[in-house]
Amino acid sequence: MHIVIAGAGPTGLTAAVELARRGARVTIVEKRPGPSHLSRAVGLMPASLAILRPSGVAEAILAEAIAFTGASFHLRAKEFACLPLGFDDKARIWGLSQDRTEAHLETALTHYGEIVRYGVEVLSFEQNPHGVEVETSDGTLEADYLIGADGVQSAVRAGLGFDFPGFDLPGPWSIADVDADDWRDPTCFQAFLLDGGDVCVVVPLEAARFRIIASREDALAALPVPMDVRRTRRRGTFTISVRQVKRYQQGRVFLAGDAAHCHSPVGGRGMNLGIADAADLARRIMEDETEGYHAARHAEGARVMRLSERGRRMLNTESALKRGLAIRALKLGAALPPLGRAMMRRLATG
Ligand SMILES: Cc1cc2nc3c(=O)[nH]c(=O)nc-3n(C[C@H](O)[C@H](O)[C@H](O)COP(=O)(O)OP(=O)(O)OC[C@H]3O[C@@H](n4cnc5c(N)ncnc54)[C@H](O)[C@@H]3O)c2cc1C
Repeated sequence: MHIVIAGAGPTGLTAAVELARRGARVTIVEKRPGPSHLSRAVGLMPASLAILRPSGVAEAILAEAIAFTGASFHLRAKEFACLPLGFDDKARIWGLSQDRTEAHLETALTHYGEIVRYGVEVLSFEQNPHGVEVETSDGTLEADYLIGADGVQSAVRAGLGFDFPGFDLPGPWSIADVDADDWRDPTCFQAFLLDGGDVCVVVPLEAARFRIIASREDALAALPVPMDVRRTRRRGTFTISVRQVKRYQQGRVFLAGDAAHCHSPVGGRGMNLGIADAADLARRIMEDETEGYHAARHAEGARVMRLSERGRRMLNTESALKRGLAIRALKLGAALPPLGRAMMRRLATG
């Protein structure tokens, strides 16, 4: 069996590793000239690590990742709640920059005898009753199945003629990756609720390296507490879309990861959802059960997107009432440890 995968982000790489691990022949093409050095996703959930364990990728990730110890919430600069993480196996979240997660997946892929073909782009495809003919910038590939793991601007989705319905959030959000030696509580996720309904978060990336994301144009300027930044590695803005395709498959062609869904980084689910799509699809292809892929993964995507949007609206709202309710709920979680633990388990497993 031969499967062509468009895109070597975390979704495409997971699909490639899982298919190769089960004995399939995989061709994974990536239009970038080489591995990405951009760190977008950070948080890895227990379910993703369970998926990545049989290939040895989880072990490699855990040797390098930061185990988050908690989440603290502030109104402007003042902390009003701190909830724990890592108190049991269901309530663990690890932080590792996405390029490192991808590097571990790629190393595992080479162990199964496959490599990413960089600088090769899927241009178009045609299905026939027995397979898919995939036209790439480096020639034609004959495949049994094609997986579009080619991100938000998916060419495979366009080739299927599928829309990407949803909406865009207003204004640019901003991101900064910085080195800072004396940051308070360096293994704790920190959220700051700002005036005007804005939000700023600080996420540990590795020892003395942090990601700041804000719903304002300048993440560093939005941070309401001092941070002794030694070096800024990356600074930029991005826009957020909340979209999901209506069908995840047509015949022998499938969509997975950001090609099928995208939402805000609140809750840190995007990459984890893509990894789960990829693993589910790989198993179904190998067990000849692909018909159920759309129903299972569309429902799961919709559920996770609802959760993520609920979380975003709770933190990123101009409504004093909604924000007041969120603050009360978080304070209650901090005051009642069993409730706080249940809330954090939900964050890690939800
Ligand atoms: C600022 C920010 C922070 C985030 N934080 C988190 C987080 O903490 N946790 C989390 O889970 N998620 C997070 N996400 C989301 C996460 O980064 C994405 O969900 C994840 O990268 C999706 O992986 P993917 O492999 O589906 O798509 P991508 O990573 O976009 O990979 C798609 C790949 O396909 C390639 N490609 C495109 N077209 C073609 C073509 N025609 N042929 C061949 N290759 C092609 C692209 O070059 C790209 O490498 C964040 C996103 C942003 C922007």
